[in-house]
Amino acid sequence: MGYNLALIIEDEEKLLSGDFKATFQLCADSCAKLVNLPENCFASIYIVNDAAIKNLNREHRSIDEATDVLSFPSLELTEADFLKLNKEQKAKEWDIQQNAYFLGDIIVSFETAQHQAKRFGHNLERELCYLLVHGIFHLLGFDHIEKRDKEIMRKNEELALNEVMFKENEKAMIQKAWDMLEFSYVPYSNYRVCACILTKSGKMYTGNNIENASYGLTICAERTAVFKAVSSGDRDIIAIAIVSDGIAPWPCGACRQVLLEFAEDMHVVIAWGKDKGNREYSTLKELLPKSFSPLLNVEKRFME
Ligand SMILES: [Zn+2]
Repeated sequence: MGYNLALIIEDEEKLLSGDFKATFQLCADSCAKLVNLPENCFASIYIVNDAAIKNLNREHRSIDEATDVLSFPSLELTEADFLKLNKEQKAKEWDIQQNAYFLGDIIVSFETAQHQAKRFGHNLERELCYLLVHGIFHLLGFDHIEKRDKEIMRKNEELALNEVMFKENEKAMIQKAWDMLEFSYVPYSNYRVCACILTKSGKMYTGNNIENASYGLTICAERTAVFKAVSSGDRDIIAIAIVSDGIAPWPCGACRQVLLEFAEDMHVVIAWGKDKGNREYSTLKELLPKSFSPLLNVEKRFME
């Protein structure tokens, strides 16, 4: 698949202490995947202090202050559309060593990122990822001057960051689900399933299938988990992991519809088998195409 967007990370002042490199690359991968990047590309990201970004702002934008992120695109792309570029311009940015097109530079102020993370009440890694993703979408030709463009850019940023969060938590989600599998109540089918939901807050909620002597009252693991999250006031669902020591535990139709109520773009991973060895991925969109979604309902209300 042509989703290749390599990052070259420059941290001359050694401001990054943790291992951000793998996470940054995950951010780039998610952005590339979202826009279906048709060509091999690379970009440079410079982690600098406030003084350095202030200088760049003065030099290039006549603004005498430090900002969080700056992007300098080298290709004049519109929403990652390579077909619209002319040949000469494209050829100019081909890098033989990287075997890829150079998209441009992203400058991130580490100090401003620290301040903003504190102000928004989330961790530094999340803030840095947001700034990086924002910068990458600018390099890919997204913008936020017009309201409509801003909505598109914001939506893509959110989807990219959600995928990064899912990938970073996937292992823990699956493990948590396996740990709770024994709580399934399945005297009739003997088919044990446990689900684990991840929300934007970083919290996880597990749920098991619970059967009933009156078969129709049985509830699936996925719905148990969703209802736990929602009834805890946590509705921003990003992903669900579903495990079973039986056959592949793809969610049933009813659960797909219930999941859709809270996140159309949810990531789904299933793991199964006696040796826990099987794994498969999907998204709710793939599992429930052409759906009756809560968004449709809202539109209908406006029509009446
Ligand atoms: Zn179900």
